[in-house]
Amino acid sequence: MMKGLVVFDVDGTLIDSVRVDTVCYLQTAGEVFGITGIDTDWSNYTTATDSGIFRELFQRHCGRGPEREDMDRYVSTFRAKLEEHYAAEGNRCVEIPGARAVLERLRAGGEWGVGIATGGWRETAELKLSLAGFDPTDIPFASSWDAVLREDIVSNCVGKAAERYGVERFPVIVSVGDGIWDYRVARTLEMGFIGIGDPGVFGDDRVPVIGDFGDPERFLGLLEGFRGVQ
Ligand SMILES: [Mg+2]
Repeated sequence: MMKGLVVFDVDGTLIDSVRVDTVCYLQTAGEVFGITGIDTDWSNYTTATDSGIFRELFQRHCGRGPEREDMDRYVSTFRAKLEEHYAAEGNRCVEIPGARAVLERLRAGGEWGVGIATGGWRETAELKLSLAGFDPTDIPFASSWDAVLREDIVSNCVGKAAERYGVERFPVIVSVGDGIWDYRVARTLEMGFIGIGDPGVFGDDRVPVIGDFGDPERFLGLLEGFRGVQ
């Protein structure tokens, strides 16, 4: 019997990529669509996902909604920019300490299902994860291609995971993320939540937060704490 499902965010949770992402995102917007002067406080956008931000920016600057080919062009340019950037840095994307080991331990244990839900694009997330030494193949994966709203991306991931692990309903689902939006989504979807990084981000003392996965027992202990709660 599976204990539950753990859904990991990518940027800032499994890999330290937020700064590089922002730089490359701005370059891409400037080059492909001539969009400049972008507000990079993503919490100011209606939907803080790559597809949501892209739609909002595109509409504002181009006066129409994006077509599929606009998105394809955007994502492939963004991916190329990231690839270029990381190539210049020795093809290394930094993992959040201990993240790979925890992920592998959960997968090897077989008691917890594992899923990845990113507000980013599949192509860029996979590039960064592989540069950081992760092997995301075979992990139920949802991205900005699957939905615009973060809660829909997470729900999509849960659906894929249920299929993958052959369960109708997970006894418990715990979301792991570094953003206030990750926490909001977990509450909306009535999931458990473990914050990664700065506790101040979540503005709620009840949220369990760890700086990173350097102490795997601590993380696994928090995970166990959600069993029987939901
Ligand atoms: Mg994140």
